[in-house]
Amino acid sequence: MRYAEVAVDAPVGHSRTFSYSIPQEKFSLEPGQLVWIPLRRRVTQGMVMSLADVPQVAATRDVLQPVEPSPLLSPLGLRLATWLSQYYRCSLFSAVELLLPPGFKAQVRSRIIPVSLDDSRLEALRPRARDALEKLGTQSHLSEAEFVKLLGRNGSRELDRLADSGLVKRQVDVPRPRTYRYRRYLLPIANPSYGEGNNGSSLPASERQRSLLEAVQSHDGGYPASDANKLFGSGVANTLVEKGLLAEEWVREPVDGNAPATPAVATQTLTLTPPQSNALGRIVQAVDDPQLQPRSFLLHGVTGSGKTEVYLRAMQRAVALGRQAIFLVPEISLTPQTVERVNARFPGRVAVLHSGLTERQKFDRWWRIHDGEYDVVVGPRSALFAPVPRLGLVVIDEEHEWTYKQDESHPFYHTRSVAGEMSRLTGAVVVLGSATPDVETYYHASRGRHQLLELPDRVAGTGSNGKPQLAAVEVCDMRRELQEGNRSIFSRRLAEALGECVGRGRQAILFINRRGSSPVVQCRDCGAVVNCRSCSVSLTYHAQGSRMVCHRCNRRTRPRQRCRECGGPRIRQLGVGTQRVQEEVAGLLPGVTVDRWDADASRSPSGPVGTSLPPGAGRWQEDAMRRFRDGETQVLVGTQMVAKGLDVPNVTLVGVLLADIGMYLPDFRAGERTFGLLCQVAGRSGRGDAPGSVIIQTYSPDHYAITAAARQDYAALYRREIDTRRQQGNPPFNRLVHLIYQDTNAGACQRQAETLGRSLRREIYARGLTDIEVIGPAPGVPERVRGHYRWHLLLRGRQLHRFLEEVDVPPNWSVDVDPAQVL
Ligand code: ADP
Ligand code: ZN
Repeated sequence: MRYAEVAVDAPVGHSRTFSYSIPQEKFSLEPGQLVWIPLRRRVTQGMVMSLADVPQVAATRDVLQPVEPSPLLSPLGLRLATWLSQYYRCSLFSAVELLLPPGFKAQVRSRIIPVSLDDSRLEALRPRARDALEKLGTQSHLSEAEFVKLLGRNGSRELDRLADSGLVKRQVDVPRPRTYRYRRYLLPIANPSYGEGNNGSSLPASERQRSLLEAVQSHDGGYPASDANKLFGSGVANTLVEKGLLAEEWVREPVDGNAPATPAVATQTLTLTPPQSNALGRIVQAVDDPQLQPRSFLLHGVTGSGKTEVYLRAMQRAVALGRQAIFLVPEISLTPQTVERVNARFPGRVAVLHSGLTERQKFDRWWRIHDGEYDVVVGPRSALFAPVPRLGLVVIDEEHEWTYKQDESHPFYHTRSVAGEMSRLTGAVVVLGSATPDVETYYHASRGRHQLLELPDRVAGTGSNGKPQLAAVEVCDMRRELQEGNRSIFSRRLAEALGECVGRGRQAILFINRRGSSPVVQCRDCGAVVNCRSCSVSLTYHAQGSRMVCHRCNRRTRPRQRCRECGGPRIRQLGVGTQRVQEEVAGLLPGVTVDRWDADASRSPSGPVGTSLPPGAGRWQEDAMRRFRDGETQVLVGTQMVAKGLDVPNVTLVGVLLADIGMYLPDFRAGERTFGLLCQVAGRSGRGDAPGSVIIQTYSPDHYAITAAARQDYAALYRREIDTRRQQGNPPFNRLVHLIYQDTNAGACQRQAETLGRSLRREIYARGLTDIEVIGPAPGVPERVRGHYRWHLLLRGRQLHRFLEEVDVPPNWSVDVDPAQVL
C-alpha cells in the first residue's frame, strides 16, 4: 500500500499533513497533485506533499480522486510552500494556494439526501428539525447550506447528529476545475452502478437522457460536452453525470494562435554612468555565477538616478542565459510608466499580472508562464508566485513599500523574505531597489547580507527633457501660525503659494495623511505629544469614557488640561478630512477647481494594500485622477494614493497639511513611514520643466522624520532610526511576532487577550527565558473593525520560532510573523 501525505484545505496547525491511502487500482499519484479527500465529515481539497510507505496513523481513508491528472506544483513549489507554512505559521494548504493556478481552488457542494423518514424517529426530534426533514422529504434533496438554514441555530451540529443517526446523508458532488481553457468530455461508464447512493433514481428518466447516453456510448473517445448541450439540451449531461451514468473528463486545451512575438533587438542607446555600470557589473556577476554570494542586492538611489535602467539590463542578462525574470512593483495601477518601459525592452515577451484581469486571462497567463512562453513577469507581490520554469532574477522595485507585506489573509508573508527563500531554493538573484530603503533592509545590506549598490546622483542631461533637481522643501511651523492668530488649516505661506501656483496656470496637490487619523493628542503651543510613561509611544484619545489610552500596554489616564512641557492650555487632537480641506480651498480661492482623491477611504484599516484601485473605489476616483492629469482640476486634495504613482509635470506645488498625523502612531515604524511618505509626496512636485516646491506644515518642526525629509536626507533618517531601534530592541535587532484576537464581544476579547498574555509570560518565566518579551495585551488601533473588537500582544526576541513551537497559541488567534505594522 502507498500513502499520500496531504496538506488539507482546513484550519489546521502549520506544517501539518494527513495520511491518506491511495486506491492504486483506480489511479496513481505524484507529489504536487491536487486531490479530493474526505476530512472528518466533509470532502475538501488537498495537496499531495509527498508519498510514503508508512502512514502516520493506523487507519487511513482513501484519496477520492485527483483534481488534475498531472502535478500542479513542482518539487520546488512544494518546498517553498513548506517553508512558508513553517516560517509564517500558517496551514500548508494556505501556502499551497498561493502557488495554484487560478480557478483550481474549489469547495465541494454537498447535498443532503433523506435516508429514513421513519415516523417514530421523527417524533423524538425538535419541531424545527422535524419540519426541515419533512421539507427534505418533499424535495428529495437540498443543498447543505439550505438544509442547515432550515435547521436554524446550531444547524451544522444538528445536521451532524441527524447524519450520525442515519436519518439523512451527505452526498458530495466533486467538481471539476471550471476554468476556461478546459474542454469537457463525456465518457461512458462500463458498469454503471444503478441505485447506489442515489436514492434509487439512477435510471435514465427521459427520452433525451437515453439518447445522450446512447450517443456517448457509441462515440469513439470522449464526447464533447458542448455538443451534448447543443443537441440534447443543456443540463441533460449534468444530470447523467450526477446519476453516475456518465463520467466526465476535463482536458486542457492547447494554447492556440497569437504566440508571443519574437524578441525585437532591444535598443540600447544609453551609455551607463559609472555608478550604474558598477552596479550592473556586480549583479551580472552573480547572475552568471550561481556560486557567488551574496545573491541579493540593494540598489539605493534617488528617483531618477537610473535604477530602472540597471534592473532592465540585469533582466536582459538573465533572459540571455535562458532564464526568466520577475519584476515586482508596489501597485500595477500606480506604476504605468515602469510597466511600459519593461514592455518596450522585452517586446511581446512580458506577462503583466494584475487584479483587473478576468479569470480566464489569469488562467491563460498562468499556463503560458508555466510553459515558458514569457521571459519576464511583471506584477504586484503575488506575481512572485508565478510558475516560471527557470527563475533567474527577481527585482523588487520600491522595496520599502508596505504593499509588499500581505496582511489581509494568511499567510502574512513579506515579498522580500519569500524572494530570499526562493533565491536559496533556485539560486536566483534578488535585486531590491529604493530611494528610501526600509531601515531593516539597509541595515542588512550594511552587514553584508545584501550587497549594497549606491547610485548617488540623478542621471544628468537626459536629452531634451533634462531632469530637474529635487523640489525645494520648506517646513512651516504651525505653532507660530497659531500664536500669530492664524487658526486656518493653511499657513499663510501655503495659502500664498497656492494662490501663486494656480495663478500661473500650474497645478497643486494637497496631501493629508489619513492613515493614523487615530486621535493623537498634541499641544498646539509647543508641539509636545502626550506619550505613555512606560512605552514612549503616543497615547490615543478615546471620546468614550474620555480617557487617554496606551495601545501598547493599555495604561489609561485622564486627559490633561494643560501641556506638561509648556503649561499651555491648547491640547487638541489632530486631523481633518479631505472633504473639509476641499471646502476650505474653495473658500480660500473662489473659482478654482478642486477635486479630491482618497481611494483608501473605503479600504481596510490596515491601509493601502492590494494590486490596483481598491474594490470599493468607485469610478469617481479614477475620474478624479484623469481630470487632474488632463489639467481640468487645479488643486487635488488626496491621501496616500496621490503620493505614489502620480506623475503630472504641471504640478509645481505640494502642500502637506499636517505631517504630524501618522508620525505618532503607536508603531515603532511611524517615523520611518512618515519620512518615506514625505519624500514620496515631495517627489510629485516639479517633475516637468518648472522647478517644484513643497511645503510641509507641522507642529513638530524639529522631529527627526521632518527635518530629514526636508533635506531628503536618507542617511540622517537611517542613523537616527537604527540607534533608536538598537536602544529599544526593535527589528532588525530582534524579531517580532504580532498576535491579534478579534471578537464581537468587547469583554470576551479582552479576557482572551489577558489569558494568553498570562500564559505566555508564565511559559517564559518557567523556561527561564530572558531574551523574549511579551508586550501587552492592549486594544488595537483601530480598536474595532467591522464590528469586531481587536486586542493584541507583541512578542519580541531573537529565538521566537523556537519559543512558538513550544507554546500553545489558540487557533483563533491571528499570528503575524515579522509584522509590517503593530497596531
Ligand atoms: P530611477 O529608476 O532611479 O527613477 P530611471 O532608470 O528611471 O531612474 O532613470 C531616470 C531617467 O534617466 C530615465 O528617463 C532614463 O531613461 C534616463 N537614464 C537612465 N540611465 C541613463 C544614462 N546612463 N544616460 C542617460 N539617461 C539615462
Ligand atoms: Zn504604555
